[in-house]
Amino acid sequence: MEIKLKKDIATLKKVQKWTKNILTRISNHSNEIKSDNIVKQSQKNGKTNRKTTPSTKMTTNIIKNQSMTTKSMTNIEHDEEFYEQKYKRDYYDFLLIGNGISGYSNIYERIDEIKRCTGIDNLEMVRPIVEKNSKNMKLKIKVKEYSDYKTLTKEWPSDSFKTGIKIKKSYPNLKVIVLDVQRNLKANQDNIQIKALQDNYGLYNIRRIHNHKNQPCNKITAKCKKISDFIDVIKDGVFIGSKKYRVIPHIVNYRVCSKCGSLKHQQKDCLKAQYCLKCSGTGHQIDNCNSFFDKCINCLGPHKCFSDKCKEIAQKKIFINRFVLKILIGEKFISSASDILQVGYDSEEDQTSQSFDTSKLNFLIESIFSDKINNLEHTLNNQSSSIRKIKENIQQITNDIPDVKSSVRSIQETLIDLNSKLNFEVNSFMVNELESVKRNIEINNKSIEQIYETSLKNNNNIQKELFEILKYLDLSKT
Ligand SMILES: [Zn+2]
Ligand SMILES: [Zn+2]
Ligand SMILES: [Zn+2]
Repeated sequence: MEIKLKKDIATLKKVQKWTKNILTRISNHSNEIKSDNIVKQSQKNGKTNRKTTPSTKMTTNIIKNQSMTTKSMTNIEHDEEFYEQKYKRDYYDFLLIGNGISGYSNIYERIDEIKRCTGIDNLEMVRPIVEKNSKNMKLKIKVKEYSDYKTLTKEWPSDSFKTGIKIKKSYPNLKVIVLDVQRNLKANQDNIQIKALQDNYGLYNIRRIHNHKNQPCNKITAKCKKISDFIDVIKDGVFIGSKKYRVIPHIVNYRVCSKCGSLKHQQKDCLKAQYCLKCSGTGHQIDNCNSFFDKCINCLGPHKCFSDKCKEIAQKKIFINRFVLKILIGEKFISSASDILQVGYDSEEDQTSQSFDTSKLNFLIESIFSDKINNLEHTLNNQSSSIRKIKENIQQITNDIPDVKSSVRSIQETLIDLNSKLNFEVNSFMVNELESVKRNIEINNKSIEQIYETSLKNNNNIQKELFEILKYLDLSKT
């Protein structure tokens, strides 16, 4: 009897050790899963402790934006008015077309008629345009406020300017570049793929870019009808056929007058004398310059007058691109204008001509925006590998569950067995030891059951989240 009991106790101790092992295994797994969740969560929220360089900040923001748009496609989508209010244009203009307009012979009659029809009288400009052939008159009207523009471009009374009028709205001045487009794609209206670009993305004036030798480049430009179209194509790219193409904003470069170096006009309008663009001297051109020193015509600084180092050029570029920069900064594509325009950029490179400057600007913009897309792809890859890991963990836990179940069962059986044995009269030392072992096993048993339950719950949660992530990944791929 005693020998048998000793044997039983030994077995029970083994069981105890075994259950402890299972407990540690389970808690290890749940820790792994927790840390995976934290990584995933922080990627979602963009809270990873990355260096805050502009481009990574931009990537994080883009990812955040994209997950936001995927999650709530319907309720966060802003209407055009939201963007027009957020990014105000300098002015708003439109064309008023109608046969009766030419009957209003002076500016006061026209302004009075516009006020009668719409109630608006604070017009910035009302300029008549006479068509060459038909001699029909149109009016180009400019206002300062978006609210006035909205009122003016609504329906007019049918007797406006006696015979009724039509409105032709103007689009915001936003241009984009589509990258890596095959050179054999004909960028004209008859092309069905170009037509699809217009219809699907609100693009117009789609044109192939040619290099200085008039050969087609692998880029096409397009204008955007709405601010939201501009933001969307930069964020998501465009499909031509089944292939996705990257899209970057078009930034206008500025060239100084190639005759006198001025920032205020171009050569065709130049009334000044010839100045050297390198040393700002007279009597020679840059190609024949013998000066050892550079002197800027505009800021008198020690650089050529078309150099990136010139703060006046930088200011000019920021000024002419102010509308598009406002949107790029507001939508957090860039953190400041200097991300793409080299404000006072201190480069040791020696520029010899203005065209070099232009290609460098394009290259910079392209690299910044492709950097952004590469980073995005990298993060997506990271996410899918962490999803794979979570899957493996879930699989392991699922594998462990029968183990835990059977161990719980066998412990229960042993306990029942022991209980019946304890009914016999035995050595009191044995009874004490047995009871303490029994208590331990009961405690372990309970915690195993608890862990089993929480891991089941975790399992469900993780599967739900996995499904969300897979959905998100699928959506962002399309
Ligand atoms: Zn000039
Ligand atoms: Zn010179
Ligand atoms: Zn300068």
